[in-house]
Amino acid sequence: MKSIRVLVAKPGLDGHDRGALIIAQALRDHGMEVIYTGLRQSAVQIARAAIQEDVDVVGLSSLSGAHKSLFPKVVEALAAQGASDIPVIGGGVIPAEDIPFLESHGVNKIFTSGSPTDAIAVYIKQLVQRDMFEEPKRIAHIGIAVMSIDAVLPFYQHTLGLSLEAVETVDSEGVRVAFLKIGETKIELLEPLNDKSPIQSFLTKKGEGIHHIAVEVDHLDARLKKYKEQGVRLIHEEPAVGAHDTRVAFLHPKAANGVLYEMVESKEDE
Ligand code: ZN
Repeated sequence: MKSIRVLVAKPGLDGHDRGALIIAQALRDHGMEVIYTGLRQSAVQIARAAIQEDVDVVGLSSLSGAHKSLFPKVVEALAAQGASDIPVIGGGVIPAEDIPFLESHGVNKIFTSGSPTDAIAVYIKQLVQRDMFEEPKRIAHIGIAVMSIDAVLPFYQHTLGLSLEAVETVDSEGVRVAFLKIGETKIELLEPLNDKSPIQSFLTKKGEGIHHIAVEVDHLDARLKKYKEQGVRLIHEEPAVGAHDTRVAFLHPKAANGVLYEMVESKEDE
């Protein structure tokens, strides 16, 4: 297979390229061919180099704080030279506040300084092979650990005024669960059925409270496979059966700064 070609470029005036060189080396370690433009390139020069070198993706690095004008200029220069099909990604010292602006101005993805270089390489491979994640569809539910569903139901039914949709047991997890509908999403109350239940260990360690956030996604198997490739820590490497016979998988809370995320696969028939 032809290897992926990446142009790493530093637009603008800042004179430090250590970060860009580290990324370039990391991408080479992932088998990519990397062309580095050197410092202080104009947007037009970068676009021209991308076309001449026939690259699959352009990676921009900026430490100068001028990314909000420089990155969109490169996107425009590529379009002006008929190469709007070459995707642009960016990194460097970029505050999270600026990411929505850049992504709405044609930059495919911004990697902040904390991004592992492996994640950038995996993203580029997916981008070039057009093998991207679809965005999750909605919050399927928020899971709340309780000692007793019956004891807390009055709050949910009467104080909040939600209606109880279903109560069932999930033997594989040792839990009894109650779902209360709230708009497009649900509250899931989780009560342990025995001492081996993960909910019991949560209650022992942390007490009652928010336990997890469930995100509805398509193609759970493919998503888990990618997570494994990316080294994302998982509790379930293969989908398990959750409430309502849905297919679910939990990410390890260490993958998400202490938050437990559940991926719930969409059901075609709902
Ligand atoms: Zn759940």
